[in-house]
Amino acid sequence: MEHYDVAIIGGGQAGIPLAYELPAAGKRTVLIERKHLGGSCTNFGCTPTKSAIASARVAHLARRAADFGLRIPIVEVDFAAVIKRARDIVHAHRSAMERDLAETKNTRLIIAQARLDGRDGDRFRVVAGGETLLADQVILDTGTRSFIPSIDGIDRIDVIHAGNWLETTSLPSRLIVIGGGVIALEMAQFYRRLGSTVDVIETHARIAATEDEDVSATLRELLEREGIAFHLQAKIERIEKQSDEIVVRMASGPSLAGTHLFVAAGRKPNTDDLGLESVGVIAERGIVNTDERLSTNVRGIWAAGDIRGGPMFTHTAWDDYRVLYSQLAGDRSRTTERVVPYAIFTDPEVGRVGMTEREARESGREIKVARYEIAKNSKAVEIGEPDGFIKLIAEAASGRLLGATVVCHEAAELVHVYIDLMNARAPFTVIRDAVYIHPTLAEAVQSAATRLG
Ligand SMILES: Cc1cc2nc3c(=O)[nH]c(=O)nc-3n(C[C@H](O)[C@H](O)[C@H](O)COP(=O)(O)OP(=O)(O)OC[C@H]3O[C@@H](n4cnc5c(N)ncnc54)[C@H](O)[C@@H]3O)c2cc1C
Repeated sequence: MEHYDVAIIGGGQAGIPLAYELPAAGKRTVLIERKHLGGSCTNFGCTPTKSAIASARVAHLARRAADFGLRIPIVEVDFAAVIKRARDIVHAHRSAMERDLAETKNTRLIIAQARLDGRDGDRFRVVAGGETLLADQVILDTGTRSFIPSIDGIDRIDVIHAGNWLETTSLPSRLIVIGGGVIALEMAQFYRRLGSTVDVIETHARIAATEDEDVSATLRELLEREGIAFHLQAKIERIEKQSDEIVVRMASGPSLAGTHLFVAAGRKPNTDDLGLESVGVIAERGIVNTDERLSTNVRGIWAAGDIRGGPMFTHTAWDDYRVLYSQLAGDRSRTTERVVPYAIFTDPEVGRVGMTEREARESGREIKVARYEIAKNSKAVEIGEPDGFIKLIAEAASGRLLGATVVCHEAAELVHVYIDLMNARAPFTVIRDAVYIHPTLAEAVQSAATRLG
């Protein structure tokens, strides 16, 4: 049995950088990936969705040409070409990773499904592709897959979901989306802008339900303006296939009919077949329990990325690599105590960091809240992107930001100013009193801070 210092199961956002870096620190490393390097983000998540959303935005802008004094009489969508562009970008990213890993000395890549298989003395046994390996330490980075709810009839439908949407190369003419969270909203707008009719079914009373109500309401208004229909507080009774139609029967209210069904009802951790029980790793509903150093309850077994509970983003999974590197090959000081930002890549985007207003109020702190309408920013008007707002929440006494929400064009970029401020633990006055370039959207970042006092 081959022995390794570290076995990494899952070539996701933490696993790959660890496979590059640990060998350089003298650790004999094996990375085991069952399908493609890059995991969800590269292969069907961030990379292709943002590529496809970019195509959809061009179509949207072309249709808005008259707003800018231009004439583009016909906007034709070549959906297969849009998907091909997204796939080509995926392949380019993945090939670069494969090349870099092949050039990394002292690391081995195995393409196979892996699982833990108990211990051999102090070492862990890992089974992969008919081979049993021994490892002193194991890092689990196996990510998540689409959760398909058990609705009556859904098993008889070829559903589209986050994991397979790149395989559908013809445009769904009438799309029904189940779910009103981030993936659902991004994909609903993508298909709508390329020409599908889109109905979104959500069980909650509002979309993007973890955000403040003003964010949900603004997103809903903007997406409805583009023709997306929302069915909120909806309960699906069953789904039927009727020749070429998919019919979604609701517990109350009229049924919905479409040609395709996109299910974006949450994510399920890929830990059910990982042999966790063979070494005694504790998981709750598939989420592996970890401490702030990403150690599981079993010394020598670590978990990273979406399966470790907490925020499920590429950038947090990637930061987990730094936390783990610090534990396995560094001074052990880095932990998951971190400011976590994220974005919803609808258009306009939502850039978020820290507490929502609701969370800040519920925390009982004394706070100040400021809101600034993007329509007041001159650059936003000049480039024809006046929708949205910025909301800041600061601790009243110290002036430190507790949270920021930016809803506007390029919000995922703009929110970084607030991320830096929070990481620096600096008061909002740093932004308020600085000189910003005119005309920029960044001036709106400053204008919002000005309203805090
Ligand atoms: C449609 C979509 C859009 C997204 N957009 C964004 C975005 O814009 N920004 C953002 O920050 N996040 C986004 N995410 C989330 C992001 O993709 C994940 O948070 C991130 O990929 C998590 O990384 P990970 O390392 O935990 O797992 P993953 O990237 O999923 O990697 C896990 C890997 O483990 C492999 N694996 C699983 N089980 C085994 C096994 N037993 N043996 C061997 N290999 C195994 C899998 O094949 C996979 O390659 C998106 C997700 C989706 C689905």
